[in-house]
Amino acid sequence: MVKRMAVGTAVAALAAMALQVPVSAQQQGGAPARRAVGGTTAGNDAYPTDDQWKNSKEAQALVAKAKAAAGNDAKLQSRFDKACTVLGPQRPAVLRQNAGQPAEPQRQIDIVKLFDNFYFFGFNTVGAWAVQTNQGIILIDSLNTVDEAEKIIEPALVKAGLKPADVKYVIVGHGHFDHFGGAPYFQQKDGSKVVMSKLDWDMIERPNPNARGPQANRPLPKRDVEVTQDNQKVTLGDETITLRITPGHTPGTLAYYIPVKDHGKQINILMLSGANITPDRTSLDAFKKALDYAKSQKAQALINGHPGLFGDEIGWMEQVRSNPNGPNPFVLTVDEFAKFADIMKDCAEARIVAMETKATN
Ligand SMILES: [Zn+2]
Repeated sequence: MVKRMAVGTAVAALAAMALQVPVSAQQQGGAPARRAVGGTTAGNDAYPTDDQWKNSKEAQALVAKAKAAAGNDAKLQSRFDKACTVLGPQRPAVLRQNAGQPAEPQRQIDIVKLFDNFYFFGFNTVGAWAVQTNQGIILIDSLNTVDEAEKIIEPALVKAGLKPADVKYVIVGHGHFDHFGGAPYFQQKDGSKVVMSKLDWDMIERPNPNARGPQANRPLPKRDVEVTQDNQKVTLGDETITLRITPGHTPGTLAYYIPVKDHGKQINILMLSGANITPDRTSLDAFKKALDYAKSQKAQALINGHPGLFGDEIGWMEQVRSNPNGPNPFVLTVDEFAKFADIMKDCAEARIVAMETKATN
């Protein structure tokens, strides 16, 4: 009775070829270890070395504080384990690469209704979301390409009983192809408005000397709505999404606060589109403020632009699909979420503090 994931082999293979942000093992600076890290232009320089991490008393004090906050709560302990490492929460592909394991093939994920009015679909490596309102749909991210918008997003919406022509907004979490690639499709076909931070609009419109082949020729969405300040809103019908700017992964990466209904009960969720990457004090400061705002909004779940940062999030989604009336693994109590936010803040700060200590031999 449980419908498992649909596997779209051909489409997934195409998407793997088209994926904008490869896992980078590029060596930068004088770091002793070759490590794959999440995408920032700073590469390995965005993270402390293993020695800096281990030897910084201040960093380890923050780690101990975060561990204490997790206490005996198994959900928080597993999140602490992901958050409080030298590289912090990383995409599973990065961790596999660093462990010397072969890459996991990209596979398509059938649509899953994560909350009453909030859906996930796409791939195990990157997804898109639909927020259903009483006056249409807000899409969050749009997969890699126009082709995927047509062949994956549209059929997923139809399967969920939603009308693709009702997509009024496409909010793009940050200016990388795996998030905005499908946006021109909805913009041209359905007149959807594409929302991105001004900083990332500026970034994608600059000629990219590194873009090659199909990437260089992919269409960009045209600039509709710019996010220029914290707590800017996107409202459609009965839904208002609040946006903040959390630089680090890109100059204008967005954080989202989204009210959703969970079995009829209103809860707030926080979505981060790359904000777990905080290579400097400026990005750390914005990250901390974004998490504090989520706490003030009594958020209860964190959703990441790329699944898998804090556990087997694709598996959690399968749980929701197979047992829609059971407990949702993404949902924490308000108190648990507040502690989770503190854990993320302290662990991100620990990495910055460790980087600020002198490298030892
Ligand atoms: Zn990215």
